[in-house]
Amino acid sequence: MNSEKILIIEDEENILEAVKYTLTQEGYDVFTSVDGEDGLEKAQEIKPDLVLLDVMLPKMDGFEVCRILRKDLEMPVFMISAKAEEIDRVVGLEMGADDYITKPFSMRELVVRVRNSLRRAALNPQVDELEILKFGELEIHLTSHMAIVSGEEVSMKPKEFDLLYLLASHKGRAFTRDQILQRLWDDEYIGDVRTVDVHVRWIREKIEVNPSRPEKLVTIRGVGYRFDG
Ligand code: CA
Repeated sequence: MNSEKILIIEDEENILEAVKYTLTQEGYDVFTSVDGEDGLEKAQEIKPDLVLLDVMLPKMDGFEVCRILRKDLEMPVFMISAKAEEIDRVVGLEMGADDYITKPFSMRELVVRVRNSLRRAALNPQVDELEILKFGELEIHLTSHMAIVSGEEVSMKPKEFDLLYLLASHKGRAFTRDQILQRLWDDEYIGDVRTVDVHVRWIREKIEVNPSRPEKLVTIRGVGYRFDG
């Protein structure tokens, strides 16, 4: 029943073949490319359900491929890198990657993460347009810009609401502070990441049982924030 299309863009033949074999065995429809330019063209043509994207690629690197892909395609993108440095993770997330896998990785781990990501994408195909998001005692109503905690409406400033909705509608996905700024604030705020931190603090005071130990809107050290529901 898996007929989802996966595009692998990777110039290391051993890895490419191993990943292709594994995902084909899992029932996915697998496409491959060995350089950035060709990979980008294939992605635009095939419109895969998920892209596995190496960082160091001939012709165009993975960050650039991801950045261009993100202009018109919404599928999950996993960056694959030999470098484990945190800076790479942050850059990858800023370019719009959804997850990051460091070489060497086990095929089992890869399959689990691919499967989970595709399942999430299938559950929320138009996540940006959901009118009401529900997470236990928390409800977020888009049209009325209202958050309800344990049946009681909590008042939120527009930016607080927008930030909460952005993160909650992408549950499980980490956003960097810069990504949040770019999406929700005008250009004059670019680089002013404390603005995001302050709004996160205000939101936590309204939705968390214990705001100093948040369980919904969590901090990802060195990256940014994530909504865990
Ligand atoms: Ca490579």
